[in-house]
Amino acid sequence: PLVLGIETSCDETGVGVVRGHTLLADAIASSVDEHARFGGVVPEVASRAHLEAMTPTVDRALREAGVTLADVDAIAVTAGPGLAGALLVGVAAAKAYSLGLGKPLYGVNHLAAHVAVDQLEHGALPKPCVALLVSGGHSSLLLVPDVASDVRPLGATVDDAAGEAFDKVARVLDLGFPGGPHIDRAAREGDPGSIAFPRGKYEDGTYDFSFSGLKTAVARWVESRERAGDPVPVADVAAAFQEAVVDVLTKKAIAACKDNDVSHLLIGGGVAANSRLRALAQERCEAAGIRLRVPRPKLCTDNGAMVAALGAELVGAGLAPSSLDLPADSSLPITDVLV
Ligand code: ATP
Ligand code: MG
Ligand code: FE
Repeated sequence: PLVLGIETSCDETGVGVVRGHTLLADAIASSVDEHARFGGVVPEVASRAHLEAMTPTVDRALREAGVTLADVDAIAVTAGPGLAGALLVGVAAAKAYSLGLGKPLYGVNHLAAHVAVDQLEHGALPKPCVALLVSGGHSSLLLVPDVASDVRPLGATVDDAAGEAFDKVARVLDLGFPGGPHIDRAAREGDPGSIAFPRGKYEDGTYDFSFSGLKTAVARWVESRERAGDPVPVADVAAAFQEAVVDVLTKKAIAACKDNDVSHLLIGGGVAANSRLRALAQERCEAAGIRLRVPRPKLCTDNGAMVAALGAELVGAGLAPSSLDLPADSSLPITDVLV
């Protein structure tokens, strides 16, 4: 099926077009620059930007895909989780397209879409797989017997999300927003073994994570250097912090695969763009005999193609579409793939 996907859960207005597992277009308009001076996404600013960007971004995606609205078989949209006002803009637009075109509407889960997007790059997802989902708002380990209908949480962060920790540590180091890419770049020049930062919940036997203690430890360490008038070795701090995060993430992800007898690990969400996470996961998966799948960085951060990809999966599975009074649900649980 030819599916148009709309994503507005945070600060990216994403519109994607896919045919089955084939990516035809992935258009994005981001309001990230408008949030940078606040050091975080401002919901009202994001909602207004989605409203302005929606129609031009849909047009751009259709043009990129070389199709017209009349060719579209179904509309998929992020119904949650995310910022309530931002989600509403996407859901309202998707309803309008669905109603106007007389095509079915699929309200989908943003987190499941972060998993489904890998099908655009590596083909059908193995059933089951374990998914490590790491983004600015979420950090979870999931058992995924079927991304269309059966997603089970194994563990999650008990405090900050991994991406949130990257963003906060970047702020402490006076790097830009969002912080992940900046830390990633700075860390390449640093020594990850130069500072021993705490690895929260490393050996606790659960699939849960904790990053708030690490974030505080980094802030304290930097403050004490500044107070003593010593220069802050930004690259070393970035590398040591990043290593602490990816060490815990990969260790728990591989444990989840082994404990559940699953031979494929998928990593998704914005933090999956991190080069050290990708490298260490590859290394540890190889050692454990697990096959690793990570989409290319542009598909890891929020985009419309991931929503279209999950929509195509749902259409393919023969599931009934959403109703036209579909609500936006800012705290939609991961177990609800289709609303
Ligand atoms: P969600 O609702 O899924 O939590 P989100 O708004 O956090 O969505 P994503 O695009 O999935 O959006 O993820 C953004 C996060 O990913 C930010 O916290 C950002 O710092 C982080 N990130 C992006 N690139 C990198 C990278 N190379 N290394 C580490 N973190 C990264
Ligand atoms: Mg974003
Ligand atoms: Fe996301």
